[in-house]
Amino acid sequence: MKTTLFHQHGGPEVLEYTDFPTPEPKPGEALVRVRAAALNRMDVMVRNGWPGLKLDLPHINGADGAGEIVALGSPLPAGEGLGVRAGDRVAINANLGCGQCDYCLSGWDNMCRNWHLLGETVCGTYAEYVCLPVRQLYKLPDDFDFHKAAAAALVYQTAWHSLITRGGLKAGETVLIVGAGGGVNTASVQIAKYAGAQVVVVGSNADKLAQAESIGADILVDRSKNEDWAKAVFTATNKRGVDVVVDNVGTTYMQSLRCLKKGGRLLTVGNSGAPRFEIDNRYVFAKHISIIGSTMSPLKDFSTVMDLVVAGKLQPILDKTFPLKDAAAAQERLWKGESFGKVTLEIV
Ligand SMILES: [Zn+2]
Repeated sequence: MKTTLFHQHGGPEVLEYTDFPTPEPKPGEALVRVRAAALNRMDVMVRNGWPGLKLDLPHINGADGAGEIVALGSPLPAGEGLGVRAGDRVAINANLGCGQCDYCLSGWDNMCRNWHLLGETVCGTYAEYVCLPVRQLYKLPDDFDFHKAAAAALVYQTAWHSLITRGGLKAGETVLIVGAGGGVNTASVQIAKYAGAQVVVVGSNADKLAQAESIGADILVDRSKNEDWAKAVFTATNKRGVDVVVDNVGTTYMQSLRCLKKGGRLLTVGNSGAPRFEIDNRYVFAKHISIIGSTMSPLKDFSTVMDLVVAGKLQPILDKTFPLKDAAAAQERLWKGESFGKVTLEIV
């Protein structure tokens, strides 16, 4: 099969478009012909590598993808894969639980004791074919676009699990989203609006804020004009503050804590700024703040959110599509913050 992979960690130049053996499905797995892959910042972080990351090289990036089932490894597990057939169009769920540990058996497979993420610790979707357990596949309607499905899978499940399942977001609450452009942030704007919340977005420039407004953001704060944007958020909410902050930057926590009402929740699924930074602990206890972290979602949240995507209630935002061989250019676009919505790869 054709793939874009890397033999060593490094910059975009380590990516190589080449031939690689097509994987074969084990019992309970499906072989999927990938038609579209979507990029995440994690792809670039895995390509760069970090201390302690040990991969079997060469490695294939990519958590998100959609395509068609071409073969099934038999036997399929009882209760799984019922009705799954070769030819089915599917979206891939990158959250790989073992299906057997206490967390998986109690429905928290994103907390699995033997957890893996497609494209991070196992080879991913920047390839013509990938093998996955059938429970990782969501069946798509015949007319649903593969790029939209690939673009939706990781970011919507992550944002839904954080905002709704873990964050308990309710209609009538106010949510602040720190950052206008990223995939999880745009998904969070849409999910918060779907839940009936008021949405405040802090963004780095007018263009990104206009795009956030176009997908439903109610109050826009331009941080290029408001260095103290916590004060601007406070003013914009009639000095009430917000119920929930979505902060996937990290280094902005102090401003996020200042924006919250007493009893508010700070939700986080990542750190585009830095993983280590200082906070003033007095804000956490004196304001009764909950800091709630999560990553990815259980299978149940994935199917809930994909049902909303195929019903058109949540609309994946597509940025630009590149051919598989140009994955390096695609990653550069994402990493430099030039995109709004998802960058995807066309795998023909
Ligand atoms: Zn497990």
